[in-house]
Amino acid sequence: MAPDLRNCSICGRLYAYQGRDICSKCLEKEDDEYAIVRRYVRDYPGASVLEVSEATGVEEEKILQFLRDGRLISRGMSYAAECERCGKSISGGRYCGNCLKELGAEFNSVIPSARRKPEPEITRRKGRERMHIREGD
Ligand SMILES: [Zn+2]
Ligand SMILES: [Zn+2]
Repeated sequence: MAPDLRNCSICGRLYAYQGRDICSKCLEKEDDEYAIVRRYVRDYPGASVLEVSEATGVEEEKILQFLRDGRLISRGMSYAAECERCGKSISGGRYCGNCLKELGAEFNSVIPSARRKPEPEITRRKGRERMHIREGD
């Protein structure tokens, strides 16, 4: 059987068709980009397509293609970003401006005191305490 020669839909080069409409060179490049995008989404679950595109340098259209192909788990990425805290739709990032402000305030009030009073002894002892029921009461 003669090889099914086609023009790569990306670079236009003639190549032997093997189920994909792009040549092996472009396929390799796409795999690299996919690996980069996948790593980013794994590290930053919930990132928007735009955010991933800006961070990885991979075209938005490519990322959407990965999503359409089912190669990226869409659970880890959202088409329209939503605030992880209140669910409000946002243009990017993980939290809306409101929640960012509130989270910032929370962090500021929690972290300094937590650093000032580390009490590992007590925490450890607490962990060893056992639950028990008084009998014959
Ligand atoms: Zn190509
Ligand atoms: Zn929010």
